Amino acid sequence: MRVLALSGTTEGRHLASRRTVISSLAGRTRSPLLPPGEVRIGGFGGVAGLTSYLTSTGIDAVIDATHPFAATMTSHAAAACAATGTPLLILRRPGWTAGPGDRWHRVPSLSAAAALLPSLGERVFLTTGRQSIAAFADVPGCWFVSRSVEPPAPPMPARLEVILDRGPFGFEAERSLLLSYAVDVLVTKDSGGSTAKLDAARTLDVPVVVVDRPPLPDGVPVVATVDAAVQWLDQLEALTQSGT
Ligand code: NAP
Repeated sequence: MRVLALSGTTEGRHLASRRTVISSLAGRTRSPLLPPGEVRIGGFGGVAGLTSYLTSTGIDAVIDATHPFAATMTSHAAAACAATGTPLLILRRPGWTAGPGDRWHRVPSLSAAAALLPSLGERVFLTTGRQSIAAFADVPGCWFVSRSVEPPAPPMPARLEVILDRGPFGFEAERSLLLSYAVDVLVTKDSGGSTAKLDAARTLDVPVVVVDRPPLPDGVPVVATVDAAVQWLDQLEALTQSGT
């Protein structure tokens, strides 16, 4: 069974270490962490490009293991799989939930996060990725420190310090970063996964602006773990082999 895994996440890499898949990366970073096995890099060329890729390479199933905020790729996968009748599963880690002591402000978008910031503090730690920096370019009165794997490109806030680094980041490191930059407010997407920065913010009583996830496409099954995705592939393979 030929399986295309839309990747770019830890889950995508773990999936590729458990089952033979063709992993696909967008090609955003110059030295990406490569999943084991076959890897292709670069966009497909929209829904039409992905549709013809699925057909011409004889893909039997697609697992969308992209980041929860890679909404364009996810919607393209849903459309191309529907057009070709290719089984599709979304593998998406669960989002975060606030607990006692958290001072979270949930917002629907990056622009809503930007609008809220001046009321929360002056010194802002942006962990939303380099492609999100533009949304904060015109926030009045704030100073920013951002963290990303690759340097951001303009438009950017005038008062910005950039940290180039790749996670995972532990609790102690996150706590000392918040302290050393005297951060008043942390901004994050609801990416899920490690809670180190959120735990650090809670212990320092730092408010957190959490950008909600974009919606998932209708009618596509979703699982939260690599184990469940492997199980789905096993079931699909068994069905294919029994000819049903
Ligand atoms: P996006 O906005 O949903 O996708 C934009 C375009 O990039 C897609 O239309 C597609 O181009 C191409 N693309 C995206 N993911 C791809 C993949 N896995 N393989 C091949 N082409 C892909 O995506 P994004 O938010 O820029 O994310 C790009 C990649 O970075 C994804 O693999 C994602 O898992 C990873 N990532 C994203 C974030 C985030 O916050 N968004 C965080 C960590 C990792 P065509 O239309 O030409 O096919």
